[in-house]
Amino acid sequence: MSPVFKSGAFAQQCFSSHPLCLSLKRLEPPERVIIACSSCNLTHRLRVRSFAVHQPMLRPLPPEIEDTPGDLPQVRLEERPATDLLLECSAAHQAALGIWAMDVLQDSVGLRCTDCHRSYDLDVSEFETFQR
Ligand SMILES: [Zn+2]
Ligand SMILES: [Zn+2]
Repeated sequence: MSPVFKSGAFAQQCFSSHPLCLSLKRLEPPERVIIACSSCNLTHRLRVRSFAVHQPMLRPLPPEIEDTPGDLPQVRLEERPATDLLLECSAAHQAALGIWAMDVLQDSVGLRCTDCHRSYDLDVSEFETFQR
């Protein structure tokens, strides 16, 4: 067994020096997110307290038709659990998911899906790093 470093310093360092080498490797719901660094062969394992998702509205409704009776209710993505959406992204197009933000002092990691333009905010309670 390779040693496990319980620190966010390695993840932060990877993000600072080669953010494009970081990629989502695996999701283990409800709280595990595994990020791999292809440059240093490190695996960063995160324990996530909460997930949030943001998606820019692709086609905002004009205000005048917003209250028209008979309109089908709009499905709001925000009402679906962010973990579900993230699982969906990772199943459908894992390569489109990238790490776009990392601040281990704030316990926050951001993922972005370039395919569906969603971004995910992860509130991380624990960072671990080990050699692949
Ligand atoms: Zn690295
Ligand atoms: Zn996606």
